[in-house]
Amino acid sequence: MTERIRPEDEVLSICRDLIRIDSSNYGDGSGPGERAAAEYVAEQLTEVGFAPEIIESAPGRANVMLRIEGEDPGRGALVLHGHTDVVPAEASDWSVDPFGAEIKDGMVWGRGAVDMKDMDAMILSVVRSMGRDGWRPPRDLVVGLLADEEAGGRYGAHWLVDNRPELFEGATEAISEVGGFSTELGGKRVYLLQTAEKGLAWLKLVAEGRAGHGSQVNDDNAVAHLAGALARIAQHEWPLRLTKTVRALLDGASELTGLSYDPEDQESIDDLVDAFGPVSKFVGSTLKTSVHPTQLEAGYKVNVIPQSATAAVDVRPLPGQEDEVYETVKRLAGDKVRIEEIHRDIGLEVPFGGDLVDTMVSALQSEDPGAEVLPYMVSGGTDNKALSRLGITGYGFAPLRLNPELDFAAMFHGVDERVNIDALTFGARVLERVIRAS
Ligand SMILES: [Zn+2]
Repeated sequence: MTERIRPEDEVLSICRDLIRIDSSNYGDGSGPGERAAAEYVAEQLTEVGFAPEIIESAPGRANVMLRIEGEDPGRGALVLHGHTDVVPAEASDWSVDPFGAEIKDGMVWGRGAVDMKDMDAMILSVVRSMGRDGWRPPRDLVVGLLADEEAGGRYGAHWLVDNRPELFEGATEAISEVGGFSTELGGKRVYLLQTAEKGLAWLKLVAEGRAGHGSQVNDDNAVAHLAGALARIAQHEWPLRLTKTVRALLDGASELTGLSYDPEDQESIDDLVDAFGPVSKFVGSTLKTSVHPTQLEAGYKVNVIPQSATAAVDVRPLPGQEDEVYETVKRLAGDKVRIEEIHRDIGLEVPFGGDLVDTMVSALQSEDPGAEVLPYMVSGGTDNKALSRLGITGYGFAPLRLNPELDFAAMFHGVDERVNIDALTFGARVLERVIRAS
């Protein structure tokens, strides 16, 4: 008789296979696409008896979907999803081949090691164990390995929600990335479960004026209009506002560290945020809205005043404050500058409570007794934004018991992205517990 293969036995090899498939997403369609990764995923699922569907939103932009019937199909389905694309990697900056999936110092190295071929591998290893061992989840499970998350999901989650909503029929909750990892607070291990996401808008600012010779009088200069608008936007102080999630996180951190804070006092909050060590970058950017000018374009010759000037601005409003923030940006830009939307997506905030949250917390604590779990907000976005359009409540829960020396926040889209191998096996065990008990 052969030994049962557990998820934790194959999560590393699946993760390495996925890293070796270059699925870089440049955001302009010039990358290799997700087809090769999708075929690999489908093969892994087919091998254990499932019949996944590969769905292309455009040539080469492939998503893999699979629905597994649960013990009680009457309950709302759970969506377990990951994205198979990665941000590009500049190989010359790395100390290893970014697509080599090398193993060094107890870690697996490569683009996607934390974002998010790690979680893709956990999902696949758990689902494969269902196929091999014939166990069924308590409720329907919708598994999605999706394309294009790194460019906003237009060829992935958003496309599926628009064009194939029936795939998510009856789904009430979702589990995906950027949460469930460990950090240390006051010498204690704490897992951060993601229950909120900032909103997002990429705006194009266009100033029009009167073109002319640089030597002549001109009181309608597009470059000057745009520069003024950007200066006002950059100098604006967005107010400190602690949403429910951030408040609960800081309260928990305060209790664990013994550092008290005043919710109205930025300095006392900054001291507490510092206590988060490597993940303070995550937490610090969820205290207020941010608006950053990022691109600028105008003119072609020093003695010619151009007709127009354009800039791009990256806006990250706190959830629930989107409309107010966009109104403020518009006002700051002034009437000489027109604003066009390049891309916009909503913010999310869901309760840190209920059966699924309890299940995730107790799965973590079963594998890491005594660990604390706190909610947090991610300053970026995930495919849960798209799923929320179908009324699905999404959580960030890719469980990792991290090596405390690892600068986890710097791994996301960073050089030498890597994760400790025992974090992956830990994650596979926790995720299996969650799916079995959900
Ligand atoms: Zn990601």
